[in-house]
Amino acid sequence: MRTKRYKYVYGPVASRRLGRSLGVDLVPFKTCTYDCVYCQLGRTTNLTIRLDDYVPVGDLLAEVEAKLAGPLLPDFVSLAGSGEPTLHAGIGEVVQGIKRMTRVPVAVITNGSMLWSLDVQASLMEADLLLPSLDAGDAGLFQQVNRPHSKIEFEAMVNGIAEFTRRFRKPVWLEVFLLEGVTGTPEEVQRLADRIRHIRPAKVQLNTVSRPPSEEGARSVPPERLAALAALFDPAAEVISEGFAGGTAAAAGSATDADILALIRIRPCTAEGVAAGLGLHIHESAKRLADLCDRGEAVTVRREHSVFYETVRSSPGRRASG
Ligand code: SF4
Repeated sequence: MRTKRYKYVYGPVASRRLGRSLGVDLVPFKTCTYDCVYCQLGRTTNLTIRLDDYVPVGDLLAEVEAKLAGPLLPDFVSLAGSGEPTLHAGIGEVVQGIKRMTRVPVAVITNGSMLWSLDVQASLMEADLLLPSLDAGDAGLFQQVNRPHSKIEFEAMVNGIAEFTRRFRKPVWLEVFLLEGVTGTPEEVQRLADRIRHIRPAKVQLNTVSRPPSEEGARSVPPERLAALAALFDPAAEVISEGFAGGTAAAAGSATDADILALIRIRPCTAEGVAAGLGLHIHESAKRLADLCDRGEAVTVRREHSVFYETVRSSPGRRASG
C-alpha cells in the first residue's frame, strides 16, 4: 500500500458536478475572502483579499503529477480546497503547469469575489471550466450569507463575474447556494435570477445545505421547494443533488488512510462518499473510517439522517468552495 502523504492534493472526490474530481488545495486552512454561514470548513481564520504565494507551486505540481500517474484518471483536476483558490498569486502558473502534464480538464471552483481583478481574470483564461458562485441578489443578503471581507463590494463582485463570463471562451457554471428562511424564497430567487440574466452563465446550479455547516442556523431548503425555485431561473436552473455523479470507477483498495484523511480534511463525507470518491468498497470505507475515529484522527458529525466524517482539526469551529 502506498504511504505517500499528500499535502496539497486530495481525492479524487465524488463530486456532484464534476464526476471524479482530483482536488488541489491552493491556500492554507482557512484562507478566504468570505466567511459563509454555510461553509463546511468552519469559520474563516484568515479573511483576506491579499494575493500571495500561499503554497509552493513546484511542490503542488509535483503532487498533481504523482497522483495523475495512478491507474485511472479523474474526470477533472479541480482547483479549490481550504478557502478561495484565486487568492494564490500563482494560480495561472498552476493551471498552465497542469495543462502541460495532462489532458484531464482543469476546473476552478471559486466564490467569484476576485474576478473584478484583471490580473485574476488573466490567470484563469487557460482553465477549461470556471465554477463561481452567487448566493444573494442584493448587498444586504450578501453580507448576511457570505460575510465578505470589508473591501469586497456586492456590485463590483457581480460585475466581475459578468465580465469574466463575457471574456472567457469556455463554460462558466454558476452555483447558487440557497438557505431556508433566508434566500430560499421566490422573492429572493427572483432577485437572483434578475442578476444572473446579465451574467449569462452556461448553467445555473442550485444547491443547499447537505453537509454540517459553519453555523447551526444555516438550514437546507427541502428538495421539492428547491425544484420549484429552480424553475424561476431563465433558463431553469439545474438542482445538484447529493447523489454521486460517478465517472470511471477507481482502483479498488488503492486508497491509504492518508488519502482518506486528506479527503475528509477538506470535505466532510459520509462513508458512502469516501467509498465513491476513493474507489473503496462501502464496507472497507466504513471500517477504515471507524478505525480512524478509534485512533482519534477523525470524528463523526450527524446531519439530519446522515453521519459525516471529518478530521479532528476541522471539527471545533466547523462549517466546501468553493
Ligand atoms: S463556502 Fe467557499 S467561499 Fe464560503 S467561506 Fe467557505 S471556502 Fe470561502
